[in-house]
Amino acid sequence: MIITWEWLVKKNSRLNDTNVHPTVRQKAWDAIFELWNKGIYVLITQGYRSIAEQNDLYAQGRTKLGKIVTNAKGGQSYHNFGLALDFALYIKGGADISWDEKADFNGDRAADWLQVVQAFKARGFAWGGDFRSFKDTPHVEMIFGLNYRQLSSGSKPPQGPSIVTIPTECKQTTSKTNSLPNCFVVVNGAKLLATGIMCDNLSYLPVRAVGNATGVPVGFENGKALLGKGALQTTLVVGDTGYAHAREIADVLGYKVDWDGKTQTVSLTKGAR
Ligand SMILES: [Zn+2]
Repeated sequence: MIITWEWLVKKNSRLNDTNVHPTVRQKAWDAIFELWNKGIYVLITQGYRSIAEQNDLYAQGRTKLGKIVTNAKGGQSYHNFGLALDFALYIKGGADISWDEKADFNGDRAADWLQVVQAFKARGFAWGGDFRSFKDTPHVEMIFGLNYRQLSSGSKPPQGPSIVTIPTECKQTTSKTNSLPNCFVVVNGAKLLATGIMCDNLSYLPVRAVGNATGVPVGFENGKALLGKGALQTTLVVGDTGYAHAREIADVLGYKVDWDGKTQTVSLTKGAR
């Protein structure tokens, strides 16, 4: 099941907490959006933590029940300065959460967890899985070269952007297809005459043409294209053509989806998943 960007933004309201550094928030949103485009759904489970909350967590497994989850007392964790985030992955259309570091939920032959780590590292975060003393695999942080002692004694990281912009998916409903680049569509090995469009690095496929090629009825209702029984949440209307995100179409059809960047081609294949 596809998770819509709108839904994921709502679930990640922790990133709106202004106690979290704006650069951290902006880079995290950008990473989460990039990952969403790949069908990887990141949930930020922790952002800012107060000193009292940190002390409470430190007590766990020591003076309180439970297993040890941190070596940092209050003031020793970068969460206390709004510079660290913990994450998990939404799976099963958002019905469940996973901390599996090896699973490949989106079927692109790479462990989703490590793809998340990569996306954050590419934006300047350090990963807790690389720590020597305490491997903290759901943890990323951006510390601006300051250790917690410096931060505790008042050193401040650079200010960061005054406005954090949450990326938005393609909402373009203009009358001009040619303002968007095209992509080719192959269904069960046959190339369609109709092309798809690219928006925000996502491929959107013409729903009617895909319906014709697969023998699945197509309709339109309340602003959403229908494919079989499914209303396509990512519907994008350009001119008089309805498009939807390739991954969602594949999902509704139960097809496998592949992307070839060299030829700009999306392939939908029956029964291959
Ligand atoms: Zn953490």
